[in-house]
Amino acid sequence: MSTEQLALAEEFQQAYARPCAGIWAAPGRVNLIGEHTDYNGGFVLPFALPQTSRVAAALRTDRMVHVRSLLNGETAEFSLDGLVPGAVEGWAAYAAGMLWSLEQAGHLLPGLDLLIDSEVPIGAGLSSSAALECSVGLAAAELAGVELPAVALAQLAQHAENDFVGMPCGIMDQMASVAARAEHALLLDTRSMRIEHVPFRLEQDGLALLVIDSQAEHRLVDGEYAARRAQCEAGARELGLESLRELNDDGVAPEELTARLPDPVTLRRVRHVLTENTRVLAAKEALSTGSYAQLGETLSASHASQRDDFEITVEETDTLVETLMSPHQSHGAQPALGARQVGGGFGGCVIALIHTESFDGLLGAVQENARQHGFTEPTGFLAQPSAGARRLS
Ligand code: ADP
Ligand code: MG
Repeated sequence: MSTEQLALAEEFQQAYARPCAGIWAAPGRVNLIGEHTDYNGGFVLPFALPQTSRVAAALRTDRMVHVRSLLNGETAEFSLDGLVPGAVEGWAAYAAGMLWSLEQAGHLLPGLDLLIDSEVPIGAGLSSSAALECSVGLAAAELAGVELPAVALAQLAQHAENDFVGMPCGIMDQMASVAARAEHALLLDTRSMRIEHVPFRLEQDGLALLVIDSQAEHRLVDGEYAARRAQCEAGARELGLESLRELNDDGVAPEELTARLPDPVTLRRVRHVLTENTRVLAAKEALSTGSYAQLGETLSASHASQRDDFEITVEETDTLVETLMSPHQSHGAQPALGARQVGGGFGGCVIALIHTESFDGLLGAVQENARQHGFTEPTGFLAQPSAGARRLS
């Protein structure tokens, strides 16, 4: 066991006065590209972060669940009997929902003591929620002797977030957390659930993927995400399609949409999804051929589409992208090759494909710029594509 794992096992012992049976981990993720495409049957290209949610767990002899988070020091207690959406609220709903979802799928669970720790930044668009669900799901399934393929675990975690927590997210976050591989991005076709591991190693070319937390308040829960989803579904209905993904299958050009969608808002929303799906496939191609200038351009085009067509960016993230891409960098830093807001929208993180040596210069530039605008100073780190959910000990 690593020092970290020993510390978590020790915390478990303190909290529950007995040893844990094991420790499981599931990572947060960065979506390289493919925003709001996953609930439209489209493509996404996320990769897993080294930062994980970890859960130390042990079975109980009753049907009670005790779940404690080291993040907030809170413990929630509930029974698996009569567990229904709404019975557990707040942060513990992500854990309770996962167990509820497993039981809904016919997997009867014993009670559990759970202790959770996480390094995934919370509410930053790096999917701490899926990391929490998937780590708890993996622990519970394994302790209860339930064998679950990765796709099934991801789908149950999504069910938990959709129908227990009440967040109508697509399948991307959970699939990335469960199925990602180190040094690879995960191309996922959310309609067929087919996955492809795409090698994603930038170091040898002197490049890196910078993740910057804008610190702008993430206002997802305000119903904007659900509103976008509803607008996409309305657009698909109007076009007589099962999902907007079919536009890509049919080779529809963005210009052709204008005549078919008279409402300008619906037109913009649909155009984003169509062009974003095209960009995911272009980004995958660029990665496969090492065409990083093209990858950068594709990332920036995704940001523009999120800003102008999907209208989910905010001043803080637009300014961040502009600063990163500005040709006038000080201290010898080179501008980013491409940058975009990631996650559901309205704040959260920005990613940028950068020359590794420009890390300090670019981070300094965005921090300086934020100070000038009176925004909270952003933080940043270089993201290493890492492994998916697993048992640690
Ligand atoms: P994101 O997934 O982008 O981080 P969400 O709003 O979807 O943002 O999920 C964040 C929520 O997940 C938090 O507000 C909290 O309720 C819950 N959460 C995630 N990790 C933890 C943790 N380790 N301890 C307690 N709550 C957590
Ligand atoms: Mg989330």
